Amino acid sequence: MVEVGEANGQRGRVLLVSNRLPVSITPNSEPLLVRPSPGGLATGLRSVHASGSSAWIGWPGVNTEPGPERERIERALPSNVVPVHFTSEEMTRFYDGIANGVIWPLFHYLLDRVPGDIRDWDAYESANQRFADAVAKEARPDDLIWVQDYHLLLLPALLRDRLPRARIGFFLHIPFPSSEVFRILPYREAVLQGLLGADLIGFHTFNDQRHFSAALLSVLGFDAELDRVEVEGRSVRLHVFPMGVDADGFAALAREPAILKASRELRAAHAADKLLLGIDRLDYTKGLTRKFLAIERLLERSPQYRSKIMLLQVAVPSRENVSAYRELKREIEEIAGRINGAHATLHSAPIHYVYDSVDQHELVASYTAADVMLVTPLRDGMNLVAKEYVASRVDGDGVLVLSEFAGAASELADALVVNPYDVAAIAGAIERALEMDEPERRRRMRRLREKVDARPVDLWASSFLSALKLEPTSLGPADLRRRPEQVLALADEMAERPELVFALDYDGTLVPISSTPDGAVPGAELLELLASLAACPGVKVAVVSGRTLESLARFVGDLPLALVAEHGVWSRQWGGDWIRHVEDLSHAWRAPVLAMLEEYCSRTPGSFVEQKTAGLAWHYRNADRQLGAARARELRLNLVQILARQPASVIGGRKVVEVRPQDTDKGVALKRLLADIPGDPTVVAMGDDRSDEELFRAAAPSPYTFAASVLPTHAHYRVDGPSAVRALLARFVERRRERAANGTAFPHLEGALT
Ligand code: UDP
Repeated sequence: MVEVGEANGQRGRVLLVSNRLPVSITPNSEPLLVRPSPGGLATGLRSVHASGSSAWIGWPGVNTEPGPERERIERALPSNVVPVHFTSEEMTRFYDGIANGVIWPLFHYLLDRVPGDIRDWDAYESANQRFADAVAKEARPDDLIWVQDYHLLLLPALLRDRLPRARIGFFLHIPFPSSEVFRILPYREAVLQGLLGADLIGFHTFNDQRHFSAALLSVLGFDAELDRVEVEGRSVRLHVFPMGVDADGFAALAREPAILKASRELRAAHAADKLLLGIDRLDYTKGLTRKFLAIERLLERSPQYRSKIMLLQVAVPSRENVSAYRELKREIEEIAGRINGAHATLHSAPIHYVYDSVDQHELVASYTAADVMLVTPLRDGMNLVAKEYVASRVDGDGVLVLSEFAGAASELADALVVNPYDVAAIAGAIERALEMDEPERRRRMRRLREKVDARPVDLWASSFLSALKLEPTSLGPADLRRRPEQVLALADEMAERPELVFALDYDGTLVPISSTPDGAVPGAELLELLASLAACPGVKVAVVSGRTLESLARFVGDLPLALVAEHGVWSRQWGGDWIRHVEDLSHAWRAPVLAMLEEYCSRTPGSFVEQKTAGLAWHYRNADRQLGAARARELRLNLVQILARQPASVIGGRKVVEVRPQDTDKGVALKRLLADIPGDPTVVAMGDDRSDEELFRAAAPSPYTFAASVLPTHAHYRVDGPSAVRALLARFVERRRERAANGTAFPHLEGALT
């Protein structure tokens, strides 16, 4: 069992947040009746919630208008349960309209169930906002926050905005679709951005995690690793936590005499030799139609099974107020009726269909009675029924037929794993299960039980919380992207410093990234800004770039600036000539690296090689996003291998992979520039990619380091791209000039720095 204090390593609580609370209020009851909510989530989180240092925030299962009824509900609930209230209309639009009307079918690949015109997204947003309000009100600084499932996909980012330092986890209980399917969702960016507010995102299977990572790349262009993605200086970790069941609890029930008796009675009540069992919520994802059609196919193909087999199908009522579910019920009952009509005998019918829920005793009695369990969802996050069947088979017998598209299939390889869309294959698997000899049945069941026993129900929650606890809460730089007034205030502050050296990256910092290096021409406005900055008293300006000497000289060479080209291979002091800092440009590594980069060009349409005097760069900004990022990752690995003992380093920039001689970087170049000037000026460093991190480090202890990108950075401030950089520089010039005009400039500096 998870110890909460141990799980978060602090004195905080765990705030569990889910659409549904673990208890439900019965509408209009007097006094209010509070019952436990059904479902695997409450079981999975039971140990955390029972630990005493948690609170659970969610909908109480009854819709109310604002007013006294809500207060009555609050009084009736246990103190560690916090209700989030909705009116019926809000719930219908949020829960039925979007969560179950759009996200549910789309994430289960049932695209024809997605409505033609999606109208209720605003209700989904407002509901997530309301949850955010409730959590923010409840949260204390040391709390871990754990958000559950597809109803609350926007919540992690809403919480991150309000509680920047909070430790936030998210678990998705349903599958995450392939990125090609996910892209269909009109609100795909909002969903991904919403989830990325978390520090840790958990999935049932590796496939879900892989699909999520691919969606980040294809939808947001984020170069995500399989298990982590860097977002605005934070690291968001992706991980698999398969949910388990209370195996000991099911095993204990399966041994109870009353349940064994009920199990025997169930067998005796039906004439069939072999009992097949299905237990599913009545949902179109559960594959009931094809399961029935497979029974029909089997009976047509092998009539000897008539009167010998019976499928006991429990269909648990679900979402009965939604017309699609009522329609599904009608359809399923019609198919069952047709099959029974064609294949029943005087004593038996092939399908015994029960539209009702069963209590846990009946459930375990059915599990222990069934020769074959049929779990054939079209797609399912995990499917706990499959694991519960295995956990209940203390007799070591029984066969599980399992859909390959249920999350459980990734663990339960000893089931008869089947494609649930292939009716003939399901019929074949049923036949194989019926004919399987006892030694094979027992061998398979033993291995299945080992798998299910290895994952006790509490392990899921405790391992998630332990991983969440390990997440470093990295606040990164102060984010000024939505605070332009603070950027200007910093410019004002800097203008008070007597001596300053501005070390400015060029591409992505002073000018936006262009599709080719030659396209990033500075406009007249930028040239004028740099000239007036360089003319400010007490100010020196250096452009520190990875560009070639030739292009840098062409773009800004006429200004009175210091210049650094090719990350420090070349530099030009203020008023000096170009100097080369790398002795020998004929590096042995150059030819094989060039050959490799050219091969990547031919394999990656749109990419190109830039040859510098010492370095080589492979640019992929014009290539297909996914292909480019995948090839860049592969190329970096290959380069690191072939350059293992060579005096060269590989750096990944913004849509570029570059090889440059070792011992030169922008930090070394900045130090060289500073060594040649008198005094102790304040350094202002501005950049946008990984090579600028060296610049930021070399600028220490200056507080004026600025990153103009969303990449992780050691800079003190993050600003919104080249436009914010220019606004800051322009304000600085304005203030500095005002000081000069007021005679408050720095007379002692006259002639010293300019
Ligand atoms: N279950 C239930 N009432 C019933 C029949 C089943 O509460 O009448 C339980 C079952 O024991 C299992 C859960 O409902 O724990 C179903 O979980 P599963 O992952 O199989 O499917 P879901 O309904 O979550 O899609």
